[in-house]
Amino acid sequence: MSGRPGFEWLPGALDALRDRDLLRVLTYCGGAPNPEVAIDGVPHLLLASNNYLGLANDPAVVAGARAALEEFGAGAGASRLVTGSLELHRRLEERIAALKRCEDALVFPTGFQANVGTIPALVGRGDVVFSDALNHASLIDGCRLSGAEVVRYAHADADALEAAIRASGDRPGRRLVVTDTVFSMDGDLAPLPAIVELADRHGCMVMVDEAHATGVLGASGAGALEHFGLEGRVGVVMGTLSKALGAQGGYVAGNLDLCDYLRTRDRGFVFTTALAPAAAGAAMAALDIVRDEPERRTRLHALVARLVAGARDLGYQVLPTDSAVVGVLIGEAADALAVGASLRADRVWAPAIRPPSVPVGTARMRLTVMATHEDRHIDWALDALASARPLAAGAAR
Ligand SMILES: *Cc1c(COP(=O)(O)O)cnc(C)c1O
Repeated sequence: MSGRPGFEWLPGALDALRDRDLLRVLTYCGGAPNPEVAIDGVPHLLLASNNYLGLANDPAVVAGARAALEEFGAGAGASRLVTGSLELHRRLEERIAALKRCEDALVFPTGFQANVGTIPALVGRGDVVFSDALNHASLIDGCRLSGAEVVRYAHADADALEAAIRASGDRPGRRLVVTDTVFSMDGDLAPLPAIVELADRHGCMVMVDEAHATGVLGASGAGALEHFGLEGRVGVVMGTLSKALGAQGGYVAGNLDLCDYLRTRDRGFVFTTALAPAAAGAAMAALDIVRDEPERRTRLHALVARLVAGARDLGYQVLPTDSAVVGVLIGEAADALAVGASLRADRVWAPAIRPPSVPVGTARMRLTVMATHEDRHIDWALDALASARPLAAGAAR
């Protein structure tokens, strides 16, 4: 079928992506994100899911979703400010606030939306936002949408941040520091104690994104702020229900004033249908498991340590990690693709991450571990990495 008028550019744009190996195609899984999933009917080892605690299809979490579905229906029917606010949302927000040791919280349909809605509610034209160079795309888009001046500082570099804040001088306007706590591609941690200290000293607001930390880090699974003992020290604590919690949705936690303000001014909260009841019910059940089964976190970190040590023994350069995200540095994009294809031939499913997602020359395999993996799954991954090792030409330590 020929394109509609005005779309003459589209075939050429597709070809250009195809020619540069940048056109993405989707891979479909035949079931839930278990350690082994069927792809085209063939079981594969899944090392690419953010279902870190294995909660996405945990029976208690599925039961929580089902109970909410039965009681509140499939959809909330309206935005939160009209008739979409369910008692279930309030209970979930209280649970999140308690976990994060904040006064209050709001839930959103996705974490992406929480970020693109919340940053523009906090800053706008005439303000400045300081953003880590490796922040998640949703934070970057939130910064852009806000209309504030965006100053990117070198990744996880508190000195660079302080220099940028100083350089912004005593201009009028609000100042906001935004950072992932665990970085999604590298799995490393932001230097949060230093960031919080210097932001306080310079009178800057701080917003953190705990997407990959919630459920994974901290004694009670609250995230990186708990890990560092910084609860109550950050003004805006964002996260997602969609990763370790195995459900769907995002949240922002903070003090009462912040949440009152965002309920009115956050466009990602106001102009959208409320979080689906089943997702909220699933998240509630997942929060119970995060609280009651710390052994899942212990198990997850032990498996990560086993994978990291094994890959290093094979001569791979593994990026330092504090989380469930394990980056195996390959270097050139073509080599990463070759390693990816080799893993795939051994029925291991993990993505090769290439520029522009990561800097040129730092293409890597991004392996994510789940508490539900067994030791034999890690051995399977290491066997596959051993077979792929000759393809990772420049990856020697
Ligand atoms: C996944 C992710 C998000 C978006 O969360 P969703 O709930 O998946 O929309 C935001 N920030 C970071 C750092 C993420 O990794």
